[in-house]
Amino acid sequence: MTSVERGWAERSADVLIQNLSVPLAQMERGQGCYLWDNAGKQYLDFLGGIAVNSLGHCHPAVVQALTEQASRLDHISNYFVSRPQLDLAERLLDLAGATGGGVFLANSGTEANEAALKLARLHGNSQGKSRIIAFEGAFHGRTMGALALTAKAKYRDPFAPLTPGIEHLPVDEAALREAMDDQVAAIFVEPIQGEAGVVELPAGFLEAARELADRHGSLLILDEVQTGVGRTGRWFGFQHTSVVPDAITVAKGLGSGFPIGALVAFPSCSGLFYPGSHGTTFGGNPLAARVALQVLQVLEDAAVLENVQVQSERLRTGLAELGSDLIASVRGRGLLLGIQLTRPVAAEVTAAAFARGLIINAPAPDVIRLAPPLVVGRREVGEFLELFAQSLDAS
Ligand SMILES: *Cc1c(COP(=O)(O)O)cnc(C)c1O
Repeated sequence: MTSVERGWAERSADVLIQNLSVPLAQMERGQGCYLWDNAGKQYLDFLGGIAVNSLGHCHPAVVQALTEQASRLDHISNYFVSRPQLDLAERLLDLAGATGGGVFLANSGTEANEAALKLARLHGNSQGKSRIIAFEGAFHGRTMGALALTAKAKYRDPFAPLTPGIEHLPVDEAALREAMDDQVAAIFVEPIQGEAGVVELPAGFLEAARELADRHGSLLILDEVQTGVGRTGRWFGFQHTSVVPDAITVAKGLGSGFPIGALVAFPSCSGLFYPGSHGTTFGGNPLAARVALQVLQVLEDAAVLENVQVQSERLRTGLAELGSDLIASVRGRGLLLGIQLTRPVAAEVTAAAFARGLIINAPAPDVIRLAPPLVVGRREVGEFLELFAQSLDAS
């Protein structure tokens, strides 16, 4: 038998390193908010590649920008710049309110955080500060530096020893106040903890972190990999507050499916890196930069951030109207929502949904996460509510 005739499950088991759980399907095609698997079954994608497919699947403007760029200029080296790279950096600085700062382009969220961690070290080492603070429940990625910022023991422990100097505090203002001193180089925090189960920060927490960072000469670095690029209904999650961070990291939704990440440094710390201090072969690649630029353009031109707020309200109202005794509460912002269940049956609900052609996921045993494309419409929200109600009933 040739490999082509064997099933995808068997082939996956044979040739992929088994670092993740067993795949649920082999997907063949995507369009808008829908995916189709190799048996032709249709799925409504309310996970969006985990907050990645901001414009849905295969958006025509993205396809057009990518193919146009692919036939014009594909890859250069870091000895050169490209116009998309410069345009994207300017646009990110503008949207973040970080004019006068600087951008480092990478290829993923974890890499953006690696750059941010090196930024924190440069700041700390220049001032004799060796402590870095992160939080319980935090997820910042899986490469060794970012992993040291990530809290989950299951992800960390097999890979010890990790980068030293990083402490995890409870997400609590008093605990942060107590822990802070002039030895702290940086505080890393997610505006909403996505992987922990769409957990919002306590009211006033970011403001307190800003005040404490200022008092002790520490950087406030926000991981906006999941919350950035319109996901919460504003360009970045921190923009729901009055806080100005020293740096943010973005990735997931930025390329709407094309791999890209970015560290956006505000003027307070953008001068810390110096020639030769960091780099990556693919970062700033013209294809990735051009796609990201196009994504930002469509988000703006099509008033997508307004749509995020409208559909978020519609989802919250619809979920409340289901009147299910399995739903305890709905949290999050914009189109990053966590449905807190009254029982730890999130895996069963997710499986029941998948069987019915609805893609959602369970970041915790009692939490369902929704992160649909930001361009989702009234019709898809209606279809989701119907399929989700059936999935709850079946669990
Ligand atoms: C997904 C995620 C990351 C890691 O991004 P990758 O592209 O998977 O490396 C980091 N931080 C947050 C908040 C994330 O949600």
